[in-house]
Amino acid sequence: MIEVVVGDITELAVDAIVNAANASLMPGGGVDGAIHRAAGLELAQYTATLGGCETGEAKIAPGFNLKARHVLLTVGPIWRGGEEKEEALLASCYDSCCRLAKQEGIRSLAFPAISTGVYGYPKVEAARVALEALRRHEADFDRLVCCCFSEQDAELYRKRLSGTGV
Ligand code: ADP
Repeated sequence: MIEVVVGDITELAVDAIVNAANASLMPGGGVDGAIHRAAGLELAQYTATLGGCETGEAKIAPGFNLKARHVLLTVGPIWRGGEEKEEALLASCYDSCCRLAKQEGIRSLAFPAISTGVYGYPKVEAARVALEALRRHEADFDRLVCCCFSEQDAELYRKRLSGTGV
């Protein structure tokens, strides 16, 4: 089942939350900073050993102080106008996380709106790509949660889920 919630992803009690990380996997701003603050310093110590992450791929770490048992780290594309494979790379983030989560026996997984902050991906388009990708994996999970940071963002997801999105 795909769910849309509004709130801080670090507070969710799911098997795993996804971090919109950067290629170095070292703590940055936005949702990444929030996840590192909530998980504790051990998360950065752990991610420093992972050898970074390519755009569109995913890695896994323990959740440390989070309610979630695991953090999946993925690196979204930086929006450069849409001609630089941004859509395929963003879809790949969702696909890679779902595949890795399934391998690890994760049954509930929460995503932020990857790339829609400082990476500048247009939000309506990003919601469409996210939901198209998540629908492909829905059957492998009990819960796939789209964690939006504002009511406005959540509305984009809800409209598209109910088939009235543009
Ligand atoms: P990116 O670099 O991939 O664009 P950002 O962290 O800048 O990542 O933003 C990604 C999305 O995460 C944005 O839509 C932002 O509003 C949202 N966000 C920021 N903090 C949180 C949080 N604590 N929980 C859920 N979503 C968040």
